[in-house]
Amino acid sequence: MKTAIYPGSFDPVTLGHLNIIKRAAACFDKLIVCVMVNSNKRNSGMFTPQERVEMLRRVTEKLPNVEVDFSDELLASYAKRKRARVLVKGLRAVSDFEQEVQMAIVNGKLNPKLDTMFLPSSEKYTYLSSSVVKEMARYGADLSDFVPREIIQDVEERAREQQSL
Ligand code: ADP
Repeated sequence: MKTAIYPGSFDPVTLGHLNIIKRAAACFDKLIVCVMVNSNKRNSGMFTPQERVEMLRRVTEKLPNVEVDFSDELLASYAKRKRARVLVKGLRAVSDFEQEVQMAIVNGKLNPKLDTMFLPSSEKYTYLSSSVVKEMARYGADLSDFVPREIIQDVEERAREQQSL
């Protein structure tokens, strides 16, 4: 069974992420989308890790070989525990490239059985990031070009709550 992991913050999941999830799921027997909890950023972000997992589960419900999880482990150790040999990363622009290649080398050193595969962002989503979504939500913009429709309301409501704090 060929298992791959697609790690990220997913705060929140965007249409760019979902595009990578669908394409990667078509390449492997199982794809684990893992919300990685960075120990320095545990309490920051728009959504808690549990909320991000729940939203990811909702938007990937119809994809039978996609599983959603979260972890605060080192990614290389998490992959070993899950018996995954591949990490999937999405590349938006050249600016993503340098850091992602560096991470791929580090992860390969920590877990030599682990390889990283890059999928180029689909042209329509090269501009899209979770930060852009959060910024747009704060200004009350229409989010339908940015996030899956199942979570639009969650993002709008959270942005409103955070504005009124
Ligand atoms: P963001 O930068 O949106 O906060 P994450 O840290 O959650 O994203 O990213 C997880 C993975 O998804 C990374 O490999 C990142 O390069 C990729 N990714 C993020 N947005 C897109 C997009 N619009 N198209 C393709 N890949 C993306």
